[in-house]
Amino acid sequence: MAIRHDHWIDGRHTPPEGRAWLPTLDPATGKPGDEIAAGSPADVARAVVAAENARHAWAHRSPAERAAVLHRIADAVEADAETLMELERACTGKVLAQLRLEVETSAAYFRYYAGVVRAAGQGQVIEQGAGVHTYTRYEPYGVVGVITPWNLPLNQACRALAPALAMGNAVVIKPSEFTSVSTLRLAGLAAEAGLPAGVLNVITGTGPEAGEALAAHPGIRRLAFTGSVATGRYLAGVAGGRLLPLTLELGGKSPLVVFADADLDGAVAAAVTALTANSGQVCSATTRLLVEESVHDEVVDRVVTAVAGLRPGVDFGPLITEAQYRKVLDLLADAPVPPATGGGPYEEGSAARGLYVRPTVFARVDPDAPVAREEVFGPVLVTVPFEDEDGALELANDTEYGLVAAVWSGDLARGLRLAERIEAGQVAVNGGPLTVETPFGGYKRSGYGREKGLAALHEYAQLKTVSATLR
Ligand code: NAD
Repeated sequence: MAIRHDHWIDGRHTPPEGRAWLPTLDPATGKPGDEIAAGSPADVARAVVAAENARHAWAHRSPAERAAVLHRIADAVEADAETLMELERACTGKVLAQLRLEVETSAAYFRYYAGVVRAAGQGQVIEQGAGVHTYTRYEPYGVVGVITPWNLPLNQACRALAPALAMGNAVVIKPSEFTSVSTLRLAGLAAEAGLPAGVLNVITGTGPEAGEALAAHPGIRRLAFTGSVATGRYLAGVAGGRLLPLTLELGGKSPLVVFADADLDGAVAAAVTALTANSGQVCSATTRLLVEESVHDEVVDRVVTAVAGLRPGVDFGPLITEAQYRKVLDLLADAPVPPATGGGPYEEGSAARGLYVRPTVFARVDPDAPVAREEVFGPVLVTVPFEDEDGALELANDTEYGLVAAVWSGDLARGLRLAERIEAGQVAVNGGPLTVETPFGGYKRSGYGREKGLAALHEYAQLKTVSATLR
């Protein structure tokens, strides 16, 4: 029996004004899932009013008081992990290890920002000599709008919510219409954990109906968007017209550079992870494998062997939406070379009933081919050989995107040299970890603004200077 989910406005489940709900789908089985409220501009307006009414009292609490609530939200997410994982699985088909990682990281965002807001949420005194007292303070924007995509639903919601709430903002969030239920559940958990009514509101629905209304609402004072370049470009236009501060976390086509002197076991494992983690539906997936010519074929053989043993539904999940599934299959059909492995859907077995795509490797691809330049957002890796360090750098930067990069080399100085010259928001050398603590965001078409780390705390605040003459 499909469950019908309402919006979450002012601390309670609230049916949509238009009395319309949208279907969802389990992409692992093709069966219908729960229904979500079809949000409209009227629903958005109600949520913004609730947030506006709640924001001052929340902002006036001390950082320590807000932090205590955030810690309790983290506790609640951890305690509710099994349910959250099941809700997420039902609309994404994600495999167990991926679900666990995402829910753990979701709690970690609240834990982290509960800590840092107490240490770094305050301004400083600026010495200007006797008779003057000058200081800065971070103040919240007020009502922040957050729009999230379908690939890491709960995780990306928490990535924006935790710093925004920590700094004393109230939020209206619109999750993807394909994956809204975990965000609704989070709002309920947050209320039970002591977050006052109206501080966090969830409006579900489509981008054109609910998302556009949220971005256009005059009560929204800052917007954080994670999603496609096309929607990001549209929202940048809206934000430009309103002079609305905006964070854009968009796509990527990130390079994984492997030199012949690298730890090849580690580099091959990283390439397999790029291909299979969330079935490649990760904006930071390093799915352009650039390999020094002398070890190129060996690395490709090892990746192909590792991928051949992976089981759909166990080691990797389906694509999350039907549209994305069709888009990936079309790109595979148009590839300029035959695949070294994979290359299409499953024709038989249980995987044939879901939106599963075989992990696919295209070796020695022309760097100008669409499959080597466009973000596939599926389990598809392309490889391109290079001759030397300059050639590697040229290929790594030969993209309109700049989200992340990975470099593998036994020569750490060379790894760091490249890290500094690659145009991307974050570069991992020899598997260096990128975590809740590390700022995350794009160069070039991958967007602007930063999520995660200390940087994101200050993205959700405006800096005020107060200067007083003491006489
Ligand atoms: P999308 O842009 O289609 O949708 C993202 C969100 O925006 C959804 O909630 C959607 O309903 C909403 N939306 C769509 N049109 C809108 C409009 N006109 N106005 C307001 N809101 C609108 O993206 P998607 O297909 O859900 O997600 C996949 C994309 O997200 C990929 O390109 C991927 O790279 C990117 N992504 C980026 C990051 C990052 O942190 N950089 C993380 C995950 C995904």
